[in-house]
Amino acid sequence: MAFILKNIAGYMQAYFLNFVEQGIVRDLRDDAYEQLHKLPISYFKSERVGNLISIIVNDVTAVQNSVSATFLNLIREPLSIVVFLGIAISISWQLTLISLITLPFSAGIISWIGIKLRKYSTQIQEKIADITSVIQETISGVKIVKAFGTEDYENKKFRKETEGYLKMVLRITRIRNLSSPISETLSVMVGVVIIYYGGTLVLSTNQIKASEFLGFLFAIFQLIPPIKELSSVNNRIQESSAAGARIFDIIDTNPDIVNKPDAKEVKEFNSDITFEKVGFAYPDEPTEMVLEDINFTIKKGEVVALVGPSGGGKSTLVDLIPRFYDVTSGAIKLDGEDIRDVRMEDLRKFIGIVTQEIILFNDSIKNNICYGSKNFSEEKIYEAAKIANAHTFISEMPNGYDTEIGERGVKLSGGQRQRIAIARALLKNPDIMIFDEATSALDNESEKLVQEALDNLMTSRTVVVIAHRLSTIQNADKILVLQAGRVVQAGTHNSLLEQGGLYKKLYEMQFRDK
Ligand code: ADP
Repeated sequence: MAFILKNIAGYMQAYFLNFVEQGIVRDLRDDAYEQLHKLPISYFKSERVGNLISIIVNDVTAVQNSVSATFLNLIREPLSIVVFLGIAISISWQLTLISLITLPFSAGIISWIGIKLRKYSTQIQEKIADITSVIQETISGVKIVKAFGTEDYENKKFRKETEGYLKMVLRITRIRNLSSPISETLSVMVGVVIIYYGGTLVLSTNQIKASEFLGFLFAIFQLIPPIKELSSVNNRIQESSAAGARIFDIIDTNPDIVNKPDAKEVKEFNSDITFEKVGFAYPDEPTEMVLEDINFTIKKGEVVALVGPSGGGKSTLVDLIPRFYDVTSGAIKLDGEDIRDVRMEDLRKFIGIVTQEIILFNDSIKNNICYGSKNFSEEKIYEAAKIANAHTFISEMPNGYDTEIGERGVKLSGGQRQRIAIARALLKNPDIMIFDEATSALDNESEKLVQEALDNLMTSRTVVVIAHRLSTIQNADKILVLQAGRVVQAGTHNSLLEQGGLYKKLYEMQFRDK
């Protein structure tokens, strides 16, 4: 009966510990992932994707490895130590004192090992992150690798990382396994001293009875396993706290673009967006002004186009509107209200974005179009797809709207992907549309379809478009020509052609190319 009870209890204990351990791991992972969404775009420019993935996947696991074992040992082992130490003291406090003579020495060694382990463990986690990064970059750049025939080069790079990892693991193993033999050797040395000294006491002075001395020895030797266990627990704590520090680096990063405590709720976009003396420098290069003295107004319903040579600041300028970055000087106002005083979720609700790089998720076409929202009827989805010139090709697919898109949309043509992205933006039906016209060349038929989709998207909506083909924006209400971070010309297509200058030059260049 007792046997059965013991096993049931053992089973329950194992399960319960795992339950706690896995719960902690899940919470850590969730917290770290949720934090990613709070961090500003600039964070992702300065951190490698592989490193972030590795922290959420691997470092969290490294923490898990120590949670339950440590938890149990930290209660059990000190208890045994107290009990046996008590017995030893009660028999002879003098002998006990002698036994503890190596204590400071052992503590010094154990803490030295702990410090080393922590350092190496951080390096190991960084190595795993490097490995993850190489894999992630190779997979995203698989076409380039194949086209350039650089498989060997990539393999070498990868082997160098795994070799480095192996060296680190061996190094940490050497240190980690030192603690047990060292503490055992020390204990045995103490044991010898005690037996000798205690033996003398028993034989010559009779201060202590032989049976008591045996009891004492028993108690002292019972102290060894818990001390050994505790030092290995210390090792595990040091190693996992290195991983923990990396996780909390993410969790504790304060996002710098957040709602003010008294941020205003805004329900409607009524009249205009205004740039007032806007200046901007990227946080990592604060002295390099990317935009300077930008002043203009986008009235509700207007199409405003940004053109100009590459590097002029067009993408940067549109990134300021949804507060991907905050202005460095001046202000952007939404209906007269500084966008930094408005609730960010309200601001972003007004805005739809189609970027050059079309991001499709590994999901059905339908879910890609109504991304993140379940309350669109089929009719609405079809309607958006029709306006985006996407309905026909989607309907011809094997499973229609339920067709699963391979990871990152590899099974679709560039033009089809763009039209799905446009349908997605149309369905959200934002008041303000930001559109970064794709520079990638499409075939004529596809370009016509995409252009039509765009024209549909632009009607009766406020639009900011970064235009690379000047032919697409001849009807824009306002064209801003950006060069080296300043607006050098502004006007309509015709007025700008009349003015001459950069716009005319750009236009003639494209016209000549045609
Ligand atoms: P455009 O869209 O007109 O080609 P961009 O807005 O992309 O111009 O770039 C404007 C300038 O800002 C360039 O000099 C570019 O090097 C710099 N830049 C762009 N992104 C970053 C970034 N994340 N960090 C630092 N500088 C950047």
